[in-house]
Amino acid sequence: MFFLAKTIFIDPAGTNKEDVQIIADKVMKLVHSYFSSAEQHPVLPQHEITSFSNMPEQGLSVEEILHQIKIILGNSMNPYHPKYIGHMDSIPTLMSVLATLISSSLNNNMLSHEMSPAFSEMEKQVIKEMALRFGYGQNAGGVMVSGGSLANLQALAAARNHVLKVKEKGLVSLKNKPVILASEVAHTSIQKAAMLLGMGTESVIAIKVDAKFEMCPDDLENAICNAYDEGQFPFAIVATAGTTVTGSIDPLEQLSSIAKKHNIWFHVDAAYGGALVFSKDFRQYLSGIENADSITFNPQKWLYIAKACAIVLFKEEKILHEDFQISAPYMNDSESINLGEISVQGTRHADVLKLWLSFQQIGVEGYEELIHSGMAKTQYFVHQIRRRPYLQLAAEPRLNVCCFRGRPEFISEERLDVWNTELQSFLLKHNIFFSLPVLGGGRWLRAVLLNPYTNEETIDEIFGKIDLFYLENKNLLTK
Ligand SMILES: *Cc1c(COP(=O)(O)O)cnc(C)c1O
Repeated sequence: MFFLAKTIFIDPAGTNKEDVQIIADKVMKLVHSYFSSAEQHPVLPQHEITSFSNMPEQGLSVEEILHQIKIILGNSMNPYHPKYIGHMDSIPTLMSVLATLISSSLNNNMLSHEMSPAFSEMEKQVIKEMALRFGYGQNAGGVMVSGGSLANLQALAAARNHVLKVKEKGLVSLKNKPVILASEVAHTSIQKAAMLLGMGTESVIAIKVDAKFEMCPDDLENAICNAYDEGQFPFAIVATAGTTVTGSIDPLEQLSSIAKKHNIWFHVDAAYGGALVFSKDFRQYLSGIENADSITFNPQKWLYIAKACAIVLFKEEKILHEDFQISAPYMNDSESINLGEISVQGTRHADVLKLWLSFQQIGVEGYEELIHSGMAKTQYFVHQIRRRPYLQLAAEPRLNVCCFRGRPEFISEERLDVWNTELQSFLLKHNIFFSLPVLGGGRWLRAVLLNPYTNEETIDEIFGKIDLFYLENKNLLTK
């Protein structure tokens, strides 16, 4: 078998050890040198790559493959760049990148304990620790999943099964239409979950938000009463801690009391804002989250873990077992629960290693500093907006997410969207990336100040360019 002599696999007998080492070194060198100079690369590729080479009949040489890798690097979004500040996609911690290499090489499977003895134990321990951080007690449990959408899906599936008692018989057994209550700016994965759970997207009732984009408790109360009046069954309230567009945090204490009063499941989507549990100063923003029946948290965002890394937590682990678990007969009976039986996923990568190794290196205090520096930078960013009468803030940022737009005196209300879209393109030409979400029917620019290498000087440069666009337009239009 001549092909096994090549470096297709790592030969467990070590016959291709040197050759493997050479390839690994070349790839590492390429990747490392690219990211060590990421500031010199564009924030987004100038031309989109639209075609890739076909699957070749005969394998390519390592040099040819390296060439392909280079093309991919140059045509990708560049989250390392300090002026890439448009999305919740962070620069990954070095440890989480290296962890991927280790866990992928091991290729264990989080499906069962026997397929991943070390990682399954590690995940259970990390979940316990996370649960305590969120203010849960010893009865809490959960599992890691590949992203916040899956975490929301799993939480709502367990909620539905638990509250409506439909795990076995399904929704056809119901007389009343089940509905979910979430704010109008909740993440779209809530609707996706409702669709997948057989309730349809219309079962998500949008609750109004106030000027800060936080859910209005009064509107929630009314919606619950209306739902009952119409013969619906409101079974879950979804609050958001860190909304996707403005980073707003719903009033968790108040919403949790409403949920409790009506005996409705309370889920908190803290995919983004959950990171605040690692900050002594800002932990209080999440107060009330400990009353949630379930929580979504994405360490792949504000904890800088390489994707994917997300967690769904349950206040009562028991519910996960009773109302979600499907036992697999092909797995060995063991003392330990197989994580695949309590996860919406089956086979799963050991994402936990990325999180665990990052904490080993950074420590809780290190994370706290990262979070605080992002919050301080956001204040500086807001200060720059306030100094410019032609700029408007969507809302005072609670987190490191800042939504704003230009509102120059010489631009009519109807032209604002066009003007801001042009501003975004202009900035992109200067290698500055903001996202351009729709909020309240209009276009806004959104900054997520995650990158630790984005400093005040970077922010000054960015606002210099915004001023330039404003002044050029002003001269053009008011001449
Ligand atoms: C990012 C995000 C999600 C979705 O997470 P994915 O990992 O993209 O699936 C859900 N809710 C909120 C509030 C988010 O910010």
